[in-house]
Amino acid sequence: MPLLRIAIPAPFYHGFDYLIPSDWDIGPLVPGIRLRVPFGKREAIGILTEIIESTPTLKPLKPAIAFLDTEPVFTPTLMKLARFASQYYHYPLGEVFNSILPGLLRKGKAAYCKSLPTTTIGLGEQFASYALNDAQQTAINSVGSSLSEFKIFLLNGVTGSGKTEVYLHIIDKVIKANKQALILVPEIGLTPQILARFQQRFHVPIAALHSGMTERERLDAWLLAKQGRIPIIIGTRSALFTPLLNPGVIIIDEEHDVSFKQQEGFRYHARDLAIVRARMENIPILLGSATPSLESLHNIATARYHLLNLPARAGSAEHPHFHLIDIRNQTLENGLSKLLLNNMEKHLAQNGQILLFLNRRGFAPVWFCHACSWTASCDRCDVKLTYHQQPPSLLCHHCGATRPIPHQCPKCQSHHLYPLGLGTQRIEQTLAKYFPNVGIVRIDRDSTRRKGALHSMLETIHSGENKILIGTQMIAKGHHFPEVTLVAILDADTGLFSADFRATERVAQLLLQVAGRAGRAERAGEVYLQTHNPQHPLLLHLIEHGYMAFAKAALLERKNADLPPYNYAALFRAEAVNAQAPLKFLQELRDLAHVYPTNAVTILGPVPALIERRAGRYRAHLLLLAKERAPLHLLLNQLLTRLSQLPTSKRIRWGLDVDPMEVI
Ligand code: ADP
Ligand code: ZN
Ligand code: ZN
Repeated sequence: MPLLRIAIPAPFYHGFDYLIPSDWDIGPLVPGIRLRVPFGKREAIGILTEIIESTPTLKPLKPAIAFLDTEPVFTPTLMKLARFASQYYHYPLGEVFNSILPGLLRKGKAAYCKSLPTTTIGLGEQFASYALNDAQQTAINSVGSSLSEFKIFLLNGVTGSGKTEVYLHIIDKVIKANKQALILVPEIGLTPQILARFQQRFHVPIAALHSGMTERERLDAWLLAKQGRIPIIIGTRSALFTPLLNPGVIIIDEEHDVSFKQQEGFRYHARDLAIVRARMENIPILLGSATPSLESLHNIATARYHLLNLPARAGSAEHPHFHLIDIRNQTLENGLSKLLLNNMEKHLAQNGQILLFLNRRGFAPVWFCHACSWTASCDRCDVKLTYHQQPPSLLCHHCGATRPIPHQCPKCQSHHLYPLGLGTQRIEQTLAKYFPNVGIVRIDRDSTRRKGALHSMLETIHSGENKILIGTQMIAKGHHFPEVTLVAILDADTGLFSADFRATERVAQLLLQVAGRAGRAERAGEVYLQTHNPQHPLLLHLIEHGYMAFAKAALLERKNADLPPYNYAALFRAEAVNAQAPLKFLQELRDLAHVYPTNAVTILGPVPALIERRAGRYRAHLLLLAKERAPLHLLLNQLLTRLSQLPTSKRIRWGLDVDPMEVI
């Protein structure tokens, strides 16, 4: 008698087997449908993965309760992709399905679509007036001639070189062939501007998947895409799992962006899984970036990816000029050097706009006692509290805790306390003093909390009402500021000396992203970097020879240190309220690895995390490195089958991060 094997959203690495009730018709019981089943003392909704002939389970099986679908909610490729992801990231299949499914399907609602795919029909203005340049044409032809085969392309071009234009032309080819295009953008890349550009170009339904959607909208988009009725799907990380009837191409914009990696639970990398999906669908995939990840550049070097270069800026826009400002021994006006202030005046006089970048919100990162050098720190985290002026409070940027500002030092009773260091609020205040007649706007997480605030602030820049924009990394990506002629990075040193081996790569990418905001139209931009480390090899490489030269040097460093992409990494993370438990657990795990001796895997740690205590919990790491994937994954499988038997395992929260993006 056939049995049902079902993946259930629960922390188990195997499926669960059930009987088919005798009055059921077996016809609709195909892999990919949802079933309601008894599970322990409760009921659960799981996904049918197989019909099997016999079970290894010794306990008597229970019958399933109901089937919720008459056809699969997943396409066959998505089923395969989920299975691959479950194995690769060592995350339970039922949990993988659960993270992919739209909320309403997860809750057992009918897979029924309410709206028609007409809500976001584009205006269809068709193509722009300018002619494509040769490099763009070559890129479009290369991808266009591989539309029915799996091939990985990397489109490398600085900001403003016309990458989006290339995407639009490729998408045009794809939808003319009656196929669907899936476009993934970083978390903050899905701006109204980008969307408007797509809508202007195409006269077809476009689904934009973003965090502000209702569950109903999300389900409708999912179902319509699955029926092939939405030709263009654009969204952030999780849009990768949109089912497609006629997939034609996958495009990943800003492929180096860390937001493609999910940082909790099912820790997948959307770019990496997109490549797996493209192979399964037998379609091309195009990765685009001005600052490609070192992984992707390594894959170019080993000929796994095909490189497409867009060397020049499209149209007449020119590259920005870089200047390092050595701020050692300089008196700064609240973080602004004389040289910078003078140049700001010059640009303002010529009616240019200015963008100042400081990746630190709040007024000052430290509240300091002048008498005894006490600083305010979080009770629950190993970090200092940030001083905020509006509203006045001390805030922990890691756990969100707020405290009133003490005006007497708790250690020495002195009243001489003041804010130390720079935040965006402080810069805004300083600027208002220096440029009293110039419109200034600050964009960071605090100033944009209200719905619609970001949009209206950006509008004040586009309209010319405000001339100076000060912001955090919220302004680094996606936005176009055609009238900005001066960009300044107020503190280019942050991240230069981090313990994370990816930190320098991130710094280089961020600096270039910010610089790329300047001079996008007819006016060349100038970029100023204030630094205490004007001799830093990374900064010099980047500024004098560009990102590719930097990347080459950085890859050589990685190679010499046996780090990714020359090695594969997996990181066990553990945390607990008890300070010793995470380290103890990871040591037990490390000892367990001795049971499975292998020379192919190097184990480093356990070590406390860089910020060891966060929101009252202590954190530690164990890093595994291997030259080949196979022995690493074999060892991970072996460890995971026995992990729950380790004495400390019950007392800690743990997670496994395959190909971790942050190891601090
Ligand atoms: P990227 O995505 O690389 O930042 P875009 O595709 O957004 O670049 O192009 C930057 C600007 O240049 C846009 O305003 C776009 O309309 C324009 N553009 C793109 N290609 C050309 C071209 N061949 N000639 C003139 N302008 C172009
Ligand atoms: Zn004191
Ligand atoms: Zn805290």
